[in-house]
Amino acid sequence: MSTINIAILGDIHCGLNTVHEVVEYLRSTSIDAIILVGDYACSSMDTMQSLETIVKIFEVLSKASDRIFIVWGDSDIELFHKLTHLYGYSRKRVLELLKYLNNMDSIIDLSSGEKYEIDRGIYITSNRELVDRKTIYVVHTDINIATNSLLHVEGHRHYGQIRIPYINAGYVYIDSIDRKGMYWVVEVSRRGIERIDIHILSSDIHEYRCPIHKDEGVFYIMRNDICPVCKDVLNARFTDDAYLATESLFKSM
Ligand SMILES: [Zn+2]
Ligand SMILES: [Zn+2]
Repeated sequence: MSTINIAILGDIHCGLNTVHEVVEYLRSTSIDAIILVGDYACSSMDTMQSLETIVKIFEVLSKASDRIFIVWGDSDIELFHKLTHLYGYSRKRVLELLKYLNNMDSIIDLSSGEKYEIDRGIYITSNRELVDRKTIYVVHTDINIATNSLLHVEGHRHYGQIRIPYINAGYVYIDSIDRKGMYWVVEVSRRGIERIDIHILSSDIHEYRCPIHKDEGVFYIMRNDICPVCKDVLNARFTDDAYLATESLFKSM
């Protein structure tokens, strides 16, 4: 069964230095595509700086793969909204950068709602209606797991979680607290997920299973943090039952 390798990066939040580190690793291995789940923007920089940084992030990632599938997050939408209020030279530069982004061959914007073939009969979309067993569903955040997908990937909540076929990619970097997070490399075939490698960039993050919420699978949270479901049931808990044993998928921890 032929497989493909995909790197998944959670919320980047202007973490350009961390992205350099990730790309250094990705270039040393062979990956077929990168998935970015949104929230490239950050609040610690001004709007122009934030946009310039996003462009650099995409440029750096393009050195690791010529196929980067992206969705946008709430932080990015907020940034775009602020950018529309700029005038004069800044406005000119914004248009220049957005045009440049649009024309980057390596960036495939899934917010088009279309479905793309990554390779070997494996597809990707952000349109839930087009999801099936051979398709990876990418969204910044959704309320329910797409149990009919090959893999459901999202971010936004700033913790990692795996509950097959669902992966919350967590975050690569959070600018406001200057903290590195994690990224993933998954091997998939038309059959499903074959292997998952989790790359944790900070010794503060650990794997955690809640004794009360065993059905939620495995979390990647800060050492001093509690189970995300115990903390905030409404936002963290899924209502459907998609959990399968994940142990066999982990190469090493
Ligand atoms: Zn978000
Ligand atoms: Zn975020």
